[in-house]
Amino acid sequence: MKKLIQGLREFHDTYVPTHRELLDQLAHGQKPRVLFITCSDSRIDPNLLTHTEIGELFVIRNAGNMIPPYRATNGGEGAAVEYAIAALGIEHIIVCGHSHCGAMKGLMKLNQLQEGMPLVFDWLKHTEATRRLVAENYPDAQGEELLEILVAENVLTQIENLKTYPIIHSRLYKRTLHIYAWIYYIETGEVWAYDPVTHSYVPPQSQLSDSEGWSESEPSLGTPAIACELPQHAGLSQTAVSQQAIPTAASTSRPVRKSSSTSSQVGIVAPWLSPQQAERIYRGNH
Ligand SMILES: [Zn+2]
Repeated sequence: MKKLIQGLREFHDTYVPTHRELLDQLAHGQKPRVLFITCSDSRIDPNLLTHTEIGELFVIRNAGNMIPPYRATNGGEGAAVEYAIAALGIEHIIVCGHSHCGAMKGLMKLNQLQEGMPLVFDWLKHTEATRRLVAENYPDAQGEELLEILVAENVLTQIENLKTYPIIHSRLYKRTLHIYAWIYYIETGEVWAYDPVTHSYVPPQSQLSDSEGWSESEPSLGTPAIACELPQHAGLSQTAVSQQAIPTAASTSRPVRKSSSTSSQVGIVAPWLSPQQAERIYRGNH
């Protein structure tokens, strides 16, 4: 606690004086542009990894970055989603899973949790669709490989769950809402974005297209995951597994499964960040 209390003082003495204008502005109301849904894991900091300021991200966090289907629970997730879209007018949702996710590890051994952590057991039941899909479609996956597949598929499951909310359903119909699937890799600090065209997770930068008018001042967060129908689950090839298991800067794609169909719909560039923010996100501060 001592560290945190000292931190409060440092925040007040150093951050506050240098951000007076921003804080005054935020005191009159928030206008976040993105709903960021991620895990409670202490190793993730949405503002840090996107280099955004306070006031820019509306955040929902829980174990396993989950959004239970509409009316499946009386938790706060649905209310926060509704508020974000209806009251704040947010038009972009990111569901961000992460490597080494404890919740997904729990999903791998669900039955063992029932006695020791009954509440976690109950909570993880909300993503039974992920567990079952992976068990049936990736029967040979084990260990780290299985965990990584669970993380990747779970993000997509949550997007399907989001679509059960009436307000999401309606805004997607109007094409005023875009949903993105991300995975954050703790060990490298990289984020990979789901590309429904190739059915793989790829670096968000690789989805930027000159033909769509992108320039350095117009970033994309990756192809919206809902731009296309999600693929048929065709299982994961051995090659795909080995590529997926070792994220490296040299990798050009991160398949989660074999491509089983093609799509003609191209990703939509979603430039809502300022040029300065874009520069920070995609080039880093240094
Ligand atoms: Zn996690």
